[in-house]
Amino acid sequence: MYKSSWINLGPANRRSSWPTGLNIFSFSENFEAIRLIGSPRFAARHFFEPGDGSNSYYVPCFGYRSKTQEFFESETCPACRIGLEPKVFLSCNAIIRSIQKDKPSKLELETPSEKGFRDKNDPSWTPVRVIEIPATSIASIGEIEKQNTHRLKGVEVTKGVEDTKYGRDLMVALVRNPKFTKYEIKSGKVSPLSDEELLFLKFDLSTIPNLGNSQKPESLHYEAKNRLAALLKANKLAGRK
Ligand SMILES: [Zn+2]
Repeated sequence: MYKSSWINLGPANRRSSWPTGLNIFSFSENFEAIRLIGSPRFAARHFFEPGDGSNSYYVPCFGYRSKTQEFFESETCPACRIGLEPKVFLSCNAIIRSIQKDKPSKLELETPSEKGFRDKNDPSWTPVRVIEIPATSIASIGEIEKQNTHRLKGVEVTKGVEDTKYGRDLMVALVRNPKFTKYEIKSGKVSPLSDEELLFLKFDLSTIPNLGNSQKPESLHYEAKNRLAALLKANKLAGRK
């Protein structure tokens, strides 16, 4: 049933793989210190198992708008129509501290491509990777951000965890149990970006397939109600057959 639904899709809408230009970091059950850099991007995708012995793969959810972080029209997404649950997640560039620690003594300088972004196949060294955090685990980043207050000119100010000057590291680990896999996220130390770190090239998150690709969220600050609405709608969609 799934298969015939997808065959009906035009080739332009059918993607057999997630964008390959991004170097996605895989977290383990050990806490990893990371430093978010730049703006995050929200997206939604479906895990698609063809059921005919061929490999499973991700397809973008065409009913999700990154800009507003909302499901706006489930009927436009063939995967939603057949009752596959969309999963919302956040992508962001991040410096992976353990990789940074192993910096080679002899360094090849990063050579920006025409667009000024990093590509997975670039030969030069970088500690920058793209991290993916499921929407269900994002709330803890918001909690850490609330605590990230700094006294500036006598006034207490809350700063984003990705702030170049007042941001901080995050400690991230996978928690696996038989029922689910989730991310545990703890606060790390305040870590202003060094001159070298400010120059690291980022991966181009706008290549993540979704609607409104030209739009990027401005910062990690997001409305909790948007997030909840998206999750509620996602759950509702999951219940539809
Ligand atoms: Zn969908």
